[in-house]
Amino acid sequence: MNAPASNAIDTVKLLIDGQWQGSQSAEWRDVLNPATQQVLARVPFATLAEVDAAVAAARRAFKTWRLTPLGARMRIMLKLQALIREHSPRIAKILSAEQGKTLADAEGDIFRGLEVVEHACSIGSLQMGEFAENVAGAVDTYTLHQPLGVCAGITPFNFPAMIPLWMFPMAIVSGNTFVLKPSEQDPLSTVELVKLALEAGVPAGVLNVVHGGKEVVDALCTHKDIKAMSFVGSTAVGTHVYNLAGQHGKRVQAMMGAKNHAVVLPDANRQQTLNALVGAGFGAAGQRCMATSVVVLVGAARQWLPDLKALAQNLKVNAGSEAGTDVGPLISARAKQRVLELIESGVREGATLELDGRDVVVPGFEQGNFIGPTLFSGVTTEMRIYTEEIFGPVLVVLEVDTLDQAIELINRNPYGNGTGLFTQSGAAARKFQSEIDVGQVGINIPIPVPVPFFSFTGSRGSRLGDLGPYGKQVLQFYTQTKTVTARWFDDDSVNDGVNTTINLR
Ligand code: NAD
Repeated sequence: MNAPASNAIDTVKLLIDGQWQGSQSAEWRDVLNPATQQVLARVPFATLAEVDAAVAAARRAFKTWRLTPLGARMRIMLKLQALIREHSPRIAKILSAEQGKTLADAEGDIFRGLEVVEHACSIGSLQMGEFAENVAGAVDTYTLHQPLGVCAGITPFNFPAMIPLWMFPMAIVSGNTFVLKPSEQDPLSTVELVKLALEAGVPAGVLNVVHGGKEVVDALCTHKDIKAMSFVGSTAVGTHVYNLAGQHGKRVQAMMGAKNHAVVLPDANRQQTLNALVGAGFGAAGQRCMATSVVVLVGAARQWLPDLKALAQNLKVNAGSEAGTDVGPLISARAKQRVLELIESGVREGATLELDGRDVVVPGFEQGNFIGPTLFSGVTTEMRIYTEEIFGPVLVVLEVDTLDQAIELINRNPYGNGTGLFTQSGAAARKFQSEIDVGQVGINIPIPVPVPFFSFTGSRGSRLGDLGPYGKQVLQFYTQTKTVTARWFDDDSVNDGVNTTINLR
């Protein structure tokens, strides 16, 4: 931090009014490869004047972009999806290097974002309004979905492709202009996707990029010319953004932290369930907002603990670039330190450390931020490893006697991002989906992130704002519904007399 940009290392550019430009900032941060600590680039913390310039460019561009025909906007999205497909292997390498996830998972990150771009190509039908003829004598009522103006998006480090793609394609295809603030920890792959958007034909000023941290985010939240803010990140920051932007009159959606429980009934398919728990618990080193972080073993499923441990123990910890890697490094030394402290708190508070990943050393990558799969049993709901989002490769196991107790446990937890039930019983599954107070439910599915024609519907402590990303909800988020009630006279001699009531005749 606070180091000037060196000439030897690439600096990340801002995108303002269609031009990639260097920042005048005095404050910079290194983008590091989390497996090696190699400096990949330096990213500026943009100045307030640069943030203003980006918003001003978006405001100017809105005047013409909002009038661009739907078909023209849609064709840009069609081009963008083709370009993302073409460049996915190249961008996945950049993503894996700056974020740490495996190449296969990096391609998955891009693919789940690509699906949203495909969805944006349906803007023709998504943007259709409603029409009712003859709601009163010769009166028709219809709705328009009109773009809001300049919108902004703030994204987290863990999905540098998918989450920016949740935001800007749907915002701009709906006729808005956009200012994106990627994570300062891994902005490089996001920038590559934005370059593709320009290549696909997004006009100057319609999509702008500024980099930075709290100061830039706060400037966006309080900017008078921004109409809507999309945020994805931690609960603490999301709550701050929601409140600040809301106080400044903006529409806000904030997708935040999580503690996702997977409930295992004894009748579940044993091997499939264990595979799912281990994949969803330790994949991406547990740095997914929908990662399984708590396993609730019900009744006789308690006996599955040794098998769970054995499977987790077999995972290969290594750099994301290496073949056969299951668990890559954490994003930063700071993140690793935080996870180590939480593991220590679990030991101190009396949980049983079944599998200890603290001392893992990866030959050839000794400087990497690695923690191996870590498994706790005997966990209670008061322990920090249960109450806090760990965001690392740590799975905590609780035990209960009945499905009712499992449901009660989950409903008492403040988070509501995702949950899963593993069972072969349709009746149990139906009861679970009906009674569980969590916005996204998987039945024998470990990470139930909905495909883009549905919306991402995390709930309670995992989300603020009524409308989620993608699906139909996001169109409502990014547009103002205008309802028009119209009457046309076809005869000058019509005279209904004065109507002093509120009723239409
Ligand atoms: P983070 O909250 O630290 O950062 C998110 C964004 O906010 C970044 O762009 C960052 O620059 C900015 N920021 C950081 N500190 C800030 C501050 N004090 N004021 C204003 N802005 C600030 O989150 P992260 O560590 O990048 O991402 C991990 C978190 O994101 C986890 O909690 C995870 O659960 C959550 N997440 C949630 C979802 C979801 O859909 N619910 C999806 C992905 C990640």
